[in-house]
Amino acid sequence: MAVDKYTILANLPSSVVDRFWKKVDKQNGPILMHCSRLGRCWQWFGDRNQGGYGSMRLGSSSWAARARAHIISCAIDRNGIPEGSLVLHKCDNPSCVRPSHLWPGSQRENVADMMAKKRDRRPGSRSGVAVNYSRGEDRHNAHCTEAIVLAMRADYIPGVFGCNKIAKKYNVVCRDVVARIIRREIWKHI
Ligand SMILES: [Zn+2]
Repeated sequence: MAVDKYTILANLPSSVVDRFWKKVDKQNGPILMHCSRLGRCWQWFGDRNQGGYGSMRLGSSSWAARARAHIISCAIDRNGIPEGSLVLHKCDNPSCVRPSHLWPGSQRENVADMMAKKRDRRPGSRSGVAVNYSRGEDRHNAHCTEAIVLAMRADYIPGVFGCNKIAKKYNVVCRDVVARIIRREIWKHI
């Protein structure tokens, strides 16, 4: 019988845990302005995808299932994650695997979190959250934040989950903006 990913994550062998922490830099990650109270990010320096999310095999064989590095970190810290949940970043840094910067949430909470962050980062926001405009956020598209751009690129699967679907999911009116984000013509710095 196949063992599902959540069961594997709740019972990670110490060899996998050891291998995981060998690929984490706890010293040189950024302290991000919008969550500086959480301290420095712990950067994953193993395999990463274009969006910056790390991943690692959950076993020693080459056919072992892979999981994203931040999900593995959260699972190590909590002895597994609730079935069906996503692991979200408080810091919005996809390469960060510091357990205190992560929390397990639903897709619905993920979207709510992104919307709240987008709202908090508008100029003149009275939320008390530090305004942390990146180069892309004020220039190209008021609908997007770094977190949303990274999430769009992570979601993109050519021919399966394309620009139209991404535009709909993230409520971006212009499909062409999504296409340019995916092709890295805009938001090139992340
Ligand atoms: Zn972080």
